[in-house]
Amino acid sequence: MDNDGILQMEKSEKAFQEAVKWLPGGVNSPVRAFLAVGGNPIYIRQGSGPHIESLDGHSYIDYLLSWGPLLFGHAHPRIKAAVTEALEKGTSFGLPTIAETVMAQKVNQLMPAVEVVRMVNSGTEATMSALRLARAFTKRNIIVKFEGCYHGHSDALLVKAGSGVATLGLPDSPGVPEGIAHYTATVPYNQVEALQELFAQMGEQIAAVIVEPVAGNMGCILPQSGYLEELRRLTQKYGTLLIFDEVMTGFRVAAGGGQERFGIRPDLVTLGKVIGGGLPVGAYGGRRDIMEWVAPNGPVYQAGTLSGNPLAMAAGIAALTMIEEEAPNGLYSKMEQYGQQIVSVFLQACQAKGIPAYGHAIGGMFGLFFNEGAVVDYQSAAQSDKKMFAQFFHALLKRGVLLPPSQLESCFLSAVHGQEELSRTCEAVDSAIRSF
Ligand code: PMP
Repeated sequence: MDNDGILQMEKSEKAFQEAVKWLPGGVNSPVRAFLAVGGNPIYIRQGSGPHIESLDGHSYIDYLLSWGPLLFGHAHPRIKAAVTEALEKGTSFGLPTIAETVMAQKVNQLMPAVEVVRMVNSGTEATMSALRLARAFTKRNIIVKFEGCYHGHSDALLVKAGSGVATLGLPDSPGVPEGIAHYTATVPYNQVEALQELFAQMGEQIAAVIVEPVAGNMGCILPQSGYLEELRRLTQKYGTLLIFDEVMTGFRVAAGGGQERFGIRPDLVTLGKVIGGGLPVGAYGGRRDIMEWVAPNGPVYQAGTLSGNPLAMAAGIAALTMIEEEAPNGLYSKMEQYGQQIVSVFLQACQAKGIPAYGHAIGGMFGLFFNEGAVVDYQSAAQSDKKMFAQFFHALLKRGVLLPPSQLESCFLSAVHGQEELSRTCEAVDSAIRSF
């Protein structure tokens, strides 16, 4: 630290100045650019357990965790060993390996709704493919998503709601043809009437509803009691497929994801993040009669040179095996308790300073908002105080704690965050808010 208590970031700054010459915005994914909090990104040298270390040698307790995948922290010995063993045998074959079947069996054990699964390379691929399948199976074109939910960057899903009950979307990003966006209807999250109205209007044309069972891409927002149940009821009634996008929540809010936590059986499930143990993996799966439509059994084409990659399968299988072992010993309730403790210190500290705040935790996810009221959907989330969060983010960074660099992202916990990290985090949160 220099005399003002500001962390020296010279190496990160230099690395970024070079990167902007070669990469769009200096990054390979926009969220890494720190646009919401100001300043330039921290460059990372390495990670170990719950800690991440910058190029400048600063260590942080990590609540970003690579945006969710690292349920067992950085460089876990068992994941390293599994990948190393696989590496010795070759990096890719383009022909089947037993690991792919083992992976499918493990996913099915944890998520019985996933009767058959197809591995892909990212969450984006998983959701894009699941939609194609749902449209083919139902012979309908319209899909429904919720305002503020993120399902990757395929054309049909880069659409948010306009205002009102349900609007057929306009392109959210230049480059998405209106013709494609036209088939994506959006409704606000957690609003039962909007959903009912939409189904009453066009239920018979809706191929699928895709939903994050806990919304993790507008902060962390819980489904209100009965909401997912009503969604299941309506989709069933109208012959619409229900897709749970559990790319983030899968193996994270419970061993069996949101579907286990809320006791709802979706028709299709999309997965990513934790399933890859930190390597690039996605998957989609679900009812056998629907998955029968996927090539080569059925006519819906979807393929991948590196899908089911042996290194990725090894890392993912190691992660799912540890989940099988640790979930019965309270892994998820421990993470949730830790999350709740951080939220409660945050709320108390804010209350003492008269700062409006809101937050909650579920499994290995939690959300902290500088917001006057309850955060239940995109509209309420978007009202959160962005300047205050930017200040909080940097105040925590100075105190050795790394949050995702935006309030409209979920924070993540891992199995290897211990009591010591928790105490240090609570102290840092308290002291950061006091310093305002
Ligand atoms: N769905 C959800 C719920 C996600 O959170 C994400 C990524 N944050 C995606 C899909 C897209 O996954 P990927 O970044 O691996 O393409």
